[in-house]
Amino acid sequence: MRKIFYAASFIALLSCSTTQNTTKKLGGSNENTNVDLSLKYATTITAKDLGSHLFTYASDEYEGRDTGEPGQKKAVAYLKSFYMKEGIPSPLGGDDYYQEVPASFLNRFVRGKGLKDSENVVAFIKGTEKPDEIVVISAHLDHIGKNSNGEIYNGADDDGSGTVAILEIAQAFKKAADEGNGPKRSILFLHVTGEEKGLLGSKYYTQNPIFPIANTVTDLNIDMIGRVDEKHKGNPNYIYLIGSDKLSTELHNISEAMNKKYTNIELDYEYNADDDPNRFYYRSDHYNFAKYDVPVIFYFNGTHEDYHGIGDTADKINYEMLQSRARLVFHTAWEVANRTERIVADKAQKNDKASK
Ligand SMILES: [Zn+2]
Repeated sequence: MRKIFYAASFIALLSCSTTQNTTKKLGGSNENTNVDLSLKYATTITAKDLGSHLFTYASDEYEGRDTGEPGQKKAVAYLKSFYMKEGIPSPLGGDDYYQEVPASFLNRFVRGKGLKDSENVVAFIKGTEKPDEIVVISAHLDHIGKNSNGEIYNGADDDGSGTVAILEIAQAFKKAADEGNGPKRSILFLHVTGEEKGLLGSKYYTQNPIFPIANTVTDLNIDMIGRVDEKHKGNPNYIYLIGSDKLSTELHNISEAMNKKYTNIELDYEYNADDDPNRFYYRSDHYNFAKYDVPVIFYFNGTHEDYHGIGDTADKINYEMLQSRARLVFHTAWEVANRTERIVADKAQKNDKASK
């Protein structure tokens, strides 16, 4: 999650849609066969595996994963080696899992920092029936590095939690595919860099998409899902959802239905309000997709005392909740990827894309 800088943040107010969540029956999906399979593969997403990844990924060795710096290079190497080991291919072919994000691009938006070349990490499971339709699951791989005293910002929650959730979700989809139950639509696992510098990795991806934006069905973006905020102390079974109803009523209804069926987490929409003073809707990578009218959901646990602090460490993560929230993302992705019809962006604005 990016810290807000108000001067730079008041850009276009995209959404003026009213929140009208009809309880439309979910239709079209192959429910009899999919329901059990979704549950079967979701159970491979475990607190233990998430913890095992996160204690490495958010360790001091990764030096806070500052964009373009050696710690961030170790982070992308970790992700690449995971996908290679699991046999999950890159959409770029061969062993090239990196979408280069050049320094020249990064420094156009961040003045005076001399950012170095960086990269997004991409992995892919091809759909069995509609391979050209892409479900994106995203999280940012970078964090904010070290402070002037050399203390490391480990970023276990921000966004180690989202990063390792994607690894486990990818593994679940791969297992399904290996057993002949691969998703009908394709899934792109997108680990973006430069989020903390201004959502730059996702900006680069959406300006240079590997698959056409018009074929991108949704972006389910995970940024901070491993902690509990002040409001929910003592009641950790919650997650804030932001954006789910802003472009597609159907996506919102699927998300609600999957949660009701499988995970039973309290879905808190406080920050989804159009007048939310925190403007969280504009502050993580999903927004770069929403700008192009791609329906999104942003999964977020809210801020806490260690947000962008040196105390955001792996030992403070609530792994049971991380598991539960990651499974919710998986179930939602599974349904969106497998239902007969592509979800409709019924609230999409007819904006001039060129001006965005
Ligand atoms: Zn952050």
